[in-house]
Amino acid sequence: MCYAIPGKVEQINEKTVIVDYFGEKRKAYNELAQISVGDYIYAQGGFVVTKVSATEAQSTLSVWKEIFFELQETDLKLSRLQLTDEDADKKLLGILDKASQSKELKEEELLYLLELKNKKGLELFFKTANFLRQKYHKNSCCVHGIIEISNCCRQGCLYCGISHHNKKLQRYRMSKDEILGAAGEAVEVYGFKSLVLQSGEDAGYSVEELADIIKEIKVKFPALIFISFGEIGIDGLEKLYQAGARGLLMRFETSNPGLYQKIHPGMNLENRLNHLRRAYDMGYLILTGSLIGLPGQSKKDLLNDIFLAKELHAEMFSFGPFIPHPHTPFSELKPGKIEDIIKVLALARIIDNTNAKILVTTALETLSREAAKDGLLAGANSLMLNVTPLEFRKFYSIYPNRAHQSEGISAQIESTVSLLRSLGRAPTDLEVA
Ligand code: SAH
Repeated sequence: MCYAIPGKVEQINEKTVIVDYFGEKRKAYNELAQISVGDYIYAQGGFVVTKVSATEAQSTLSVWKEIFFELQETDLKLSRLQLTDEDADKKLLGILDKASQSKELKEEELLYLLELKNKKGLELFFKTANFLRQKYHKNSCCVHGIIEISNCCRQGCLYCGISHHNKKLQRYRMSKDEILGAAGEAVEVYGFKSLVLQSGEDAGYSVEELADIIKEIKVKFPALIFISFGEIGIDGLEKLYQAGARGLLMRFETSNPGLYQKIHPGMNLENRLNHLRRAYDMGYLILTGSLIGLPGQSKKDLLNDIFLAKELHAEMFSFGPFIPHPHTPFSELKPGKIEDIIKVLALARIIDNTNAKILVTTALETLSREAAKDGLLAGANSLMLNVTPLEFRKFYSIYPNRAHQSEGISAQIESTVSLLRSLGRAPTDLEVA
């Protein structure tokens, strides 16, 4: 099973390398010492992750060669756009026509899209986002793995099932060996090239312990490492960057400071944003976004969420539904609506069509298994698979009945690869050079 394609190094300009994928040139940042022109490498998130032998690369490439162009063809067919629907309203067609030419939309036009209700109109809106995704990102789709290393948390976020409000949850904290074991399995057995390590806050590890774990993963199992441990402080971010982490997954949850305060007692939005801003300055890839369906959240808030993610230089957007957890203060609320999530994904693609990768979240899949496909056909181009060992996974209960909660890693890969193939997507995620 493989979902990363090796590329051949064509040029090296200091820290940037130009990589060839079947004639297409992409660029990547290289921190590895021994890379020469002609070498084969795996890259993820814009970084060279590891070198592979020519024999191994060529055997993988021979499998991919067969289908690489076939996939592009399928994707192209699925993303064709015709904005001439007689039934759609003229105003909508005008807005989508502008969007399809990458012209900047006015706030009123963006809100018009978020407020859309009729099925035909929504279909055209989503198709426009898919068209832009194909235009700027071709059929590339990146797949990350996430390991949830501990569900211990001192915070009291009112919506979150691993917050201290949940007194019924059995808490766990994976040992260093368990984390290394899970990372090793993900990289060596399943071929993941990028891993997110996530936990609740103050999960029982010191920054030094986390740095140690990251260093050891980097030495033993080449992968791009994202951290997602919450607000570990600016100093903590620096230490983990030094240790080898290159990405930060931290949603700001909502761009509305008043709403943020209400749902995060004792915390404030500025502190969280400060982490994200400083992390970007340090060189971290930023993966951020918000929860959709929070009480009192308006459509304007959702629009501001997209603008904020863009302003924070998000390499990848993560927007997903709020889902009520029975053992939290928000147990009685309704979940975010699937349609609203897809609208936000599509609007994010329209607002930031060239840069961001857009994730289909597990929370969206939890609301509907079909929704992953719908998201990928409405501008999204990224997925995250859960590679937390099954014995721990069920206890990382941020919301109930998470999709893939008891699904082994190979089963998840199998269904992901078949979904991606059916849509003509290939797992290359580098910027076109
Ligand atoms: N401590 C880390 C990780 C928190 S859990 C941090 O602070 O970033 C990861 C994400 O789960 C959160 O950012 C939040 O957006 C999401 N989450 C928590 N509870 C949820 C719920 N009830 N429904 C949907 N998503 C939820």
